[in-house]
Amino acid sequence: MKNSNQKNNCYTIDFEFIPTAKKPIEREKLDTLVQTGTNITRKPPLELSGLGSDINNKSVLNARAKRKLVTNKVVLALIEVAKKKGDSEMEKTLRNTYYCLHKVVVSDNKLYGHYCGNRICTVCTSIRKARMINKYLPLLQCWEKPHLVTLTTKSCYAKGLNSRMRAMKRAFKKILAKCKKRHQRGKGPKLVGIKSLECNFNATNRTYNPHYHVIVPTWEVAIYLKREWMKLWTKNFTNGWAQDIRPIKNNEEGLIEVVKYGSKIFTEQDPNKKKTKKTNRYVYISALYNILNSMKGLRLFDRFGFETQKDKIQKVNHSSKITNYDELSYCPEIMDWVNDETGETLSDFTPDWELQNLINHRIDTTLQ
Ligand SMILES: [Zn+2]
Repeated sequence: MKNSNQKNNCYTIDFEFIPTAKKPIEREKLDTLVQTGTNITRKPPLELSGLGSDINNKSVLNARAKRKLVTNKVVLALIEVAKKKGDSEMEKTLRNTYYCLHKVVVSDNKLYGHYCGNRICTVCTSIRKARMINKYLPLLQCWEKPHLVTLTTKSCYAKGLNSRMRAMKRAFKKILAKCKKRHQRGKGPKLVGIKSLECNFNATNRTYNPHYHVIVPTWEVAIYLKREWMKLWTKNFTNGWAQDIRPIKNNEEGLIEVVKYGSKIFTEQDPNKKKTKKTNRYVYISALYNILNSMKGLRLFDRFGFETQKDKIQKVNHSSKITNYDELSYCPEIMDWVNDETGETLSDFTPDWELQNLINHRIDTTLQ
């Protein structure tokens, strides 16, 4: 799998099963069970599920360390916003993400740990994205001429963001119902596709632009969908020029565009000015918080017009009891996982200048 979404700061994608330890791994408990006074240090058996990830794959480990670093930096700033707003539920979710993959176990060159599964976590979203690509890529390859459609409405301010997103969801549902009936009467193509909700922030205007990315099988369906969207929203709420249709040249890249999950972490000051240098990108913490908050309870990714076959990716219910393992903890200061006993680090990750610049100087907590 190539690193094809680096340009969006989404970082590399890897295909793997998410391994989880069945029970929380409690350091204290393990310590009391370590036999002392002999040369043999026995650890209590630990039950793990999943296949684990290969620690010999240094590029995967590096990418994971990079994501963990970015996520933690961003999440710490978001926690401060949640505290200020008194949103304890959000604070809890964010703390969960901060501790995602915090304690890990390595056994037989495989790494196991707890994953938070939250949208803001780039570690978890990269795994989820890989699953979605595995699931939908074969489908796209069967479609005649896949097109990517971007459906937007006029930008709005933070306070109207949640209701706008919900209105967009209702609008899409309405279009699907209408076109389904029309198709059943033999008057119009069947609407089939996959869609995702994403939201950009424009720091210059302090506005939000929630939009749908939709992949449909043909240009005809793309045009049909755009026309219905325009008809429903009227010129008061949307502009024809803002709706984009383009053929998908590379199915995998097209899919990555759709399974981005919500919002880019680092964004341009003005998303309309496309040619912004990477180093001029920022994370606008307040805006990111507003987007996360507005997306609460909304499904971001969905399919329409077809049923999926039962997950082709078989969930591996692989579990094993191990007695020979190392425990490691994530250490924010050195940006790596450290062996609790030996002090050895897991990955060779060192952030490059560009990433250091992003996390040290481009996380904006001032813009409200
Ligand atoms: Zn996570």
